[in-house]
Amino acid sequence: MEVVCPIDAQFAHEISLLLEPPSPLQVQEYFDQLATTKHFDGIQVKPTNDYGKGVYADMDFEEEDLVLKDQMLVGMQHSSNKIDCLVCGCCFRFIGSIEIQIGRKLYLQGLGSPKDDSFNEKLELLMHEKLELPHSKKFPLPGVINCPGGCKEVYYCSKSCAQADWDFCHSLLCTGEGSKSLSNKALSKFIQHANETNDIFILAAKAISCTILKYRKLKAACDKEKQKEKEKNHLSHVHNFSLLLKGWEPLSMGYKRRWWDCIALPDDVDVSDEASFRMQIKHLAFESLELLKAAILDEECLPLFSLEIYGNIIGMYELNNLDLVVASPVEDYFLYIDDLLEAEKKEVDETTQPFLDALGEHYSVCCQGTAFYPIQSCMNHSCSPNAKAFKREEDKDGQATILACKPITKGQEVTISYIDEDLELEERRALLADYGFICKCARCVEEEAAQN
Ligand SMILES: [Zn+2]
Ligand SMILES: [Zn+2]
Ligand SMILES: [Zn+2]
Repeated sequence: MEVVCPIDAQFAHEISLLLEPPSPLQVQEYFDQLATTKHFDGIQVKPTNDYGKGVYADMDFEEEDLVLKDQMLVGMQHSSNKIDCLVCGCCFRFIGSIEIQIGRKLYLQGLGSPKDDSFNEKLELLMHEKLELPHSKKFPLPGVINCPGGCKEVYYCSKSCAQADWDFCHSLLCTGEGSKSLSNKALSKFIQHANETNDIFILAAKAISCTILKYRKLKAACDKEKQKEKEKNHLSHVHNFSLLLKGWEPLSMGYKRRWWDCIALPDDVDVSDEASFRMQIKHLAFESLELLKAAILDEECLPLFSLEIYGNIIGMYELNNLDLVVASPVEDYFLYIDDLLEAEKKEVDETTQPFLDALGEHYSVCCQGTAFYPIQSCMNHSCSPNAKAFKREEDKDGQATILACKPITKGQEVTISYIDEDLELEERRALLADYGFICKCARCVEEEAAQN
């Protein structure tokens, strides 16, 4: 059965304006401004004729040079990963201490499966930092800051991260007493639905919240201006929708298609069932959107709550599919312990080994999530790329780090591989089909010619 969202019909014109791809001039202006505010030099984002946008080197890079640190626009830690790692809800740095990281994971994993009492006691002490592990001070982490809204769901590395996230989107999505949502109960329902079905809905909600909050800020600034003008006796009429478009601008830069149209057909779904599979996905999105509307609907931002926009935001994440990964300090800690001299190691092991055994083979899971990185998402694919996303030892937060994997000269396009580039031509093609294009890079052209 077809899903009908009344907002889609009512705001068809506004929705088409929101989804219109930005002009080359808008692209250029937006990224030039981003370059100025985020202080990245060395690269330039430019509109291209064939692919839309591309990233170009503005200086020479040697192999292994840092090309770019790209700060995410909107990102999230996967719900399932929250048991494993406690990270800042804004910059995704690990927080607390080695003791909290280990104690919390074991405690949350162990809920429902009682271990022996003496171990449980130790765990309790560890979680509350009353038991210090040997050498843990060599791996210091920032302290845990609570959410200013009091939700006890999100924690931060600093007051500034807590405030930044609050102002950016969390004030609308907080389930604490200070929440600015319409109903915390409705919000909890939305979050529960996302956790049970697909946590990408939470990311979409963040994108919508940040647009609403940006709109409100722009409007407040505009009202102040208007007030001044009124006093001077000229009235200006700024259309609210143009402010919403402005608030939406960062998201307008990401290439979008509707989620239910672009999602890859899972292996266990027969091709003959494709249409009904896509319809189910659309239904699921609508179910989630209805729950979100009950929680944070803003009458002045109604077009944002259309199924069309919701589907396109989720589709943008689906197509860009950029992983957020931060390595765990717990791994560094246990590697350090393992490297101690024999005599000391024996003594230290007495304390640490029971915890390591309890953690098992997954003793150091990375922070894993999904994010929208404004510049990385403009990088085009090549099967023989000159750059790669790679976290170095010093990269301890959620920013994307792009390193040169070949020398890059000024003016050259910076490319990364969206897939495992060691695969054969046919396999690469099959994987890239999910991204909606056929690769025409030099390597593909050469390999194809060799086949014929
Ligand atoms: Zn932080
Ligand atoms: Zn909160
Ligand atoms: Zn290729």
